[in-house]
Amino acid sequence: MKPKDPDCIFCKIIAGEIPCAKVYESETCLAFLDIAPVNPGHALVLPKGHYPTLMDIPAELGSELTETLSKVGRAVMEATGADGLNLMQNNHEAAGQLVNHAHFHLVPRHSDDGLQLWPQTGYDNPDEMSGLAKTIAGLVK
Ligand code: AMP
Repeated sequence: MKPKDPDCIFCKIIAGEIPCAKVYESETCLAFLDIAPVNPGHALVLPKGHYPTLMDIPAELGSELTETLSKVGRAVMEATGADGLNLMQNNHEAAGQLVNHAHFHLVPRHSDDGLQLWPQTGYDNPDEMSGLAKTIAGLVK
């Protein structure tokens, strides 16, 4: 596991130096409630190792993280009587990442909560879309 970053608030929570409302812990992952929830029950799931973004998380942590997201997601939905659940994950400041320790947001949703978290746009033309798909496909390693 990567060592903790002394300046990282989530590393301090993992080390028990700062309290959290913990909901789940395993050898490699931790989940606790977000202090400023989109809806009550909004939970954060993170690897205990300090990986700044999603792209830095080692592949071998993938299955444990996915399992943790499922387990905690089910519990969040049951506890809050939610009708749905959003999984969100921000990488880098431009995407709204405030804490540079990769983490996943589990946000319980209710049919009448009135939130629109995912405004969508379109492409100017089909060539723009297919050209971008080709470029991205060529860069996937
Ligand atoms: P992000 O914008 O994806 O980096 O999300 C960081 C999240 O961490 C925000 O939603 C904050 O409300 C949450 N947060 C920051 N500090 C704490 C803390 N001490 N305990 C719980 N959640 C926190």
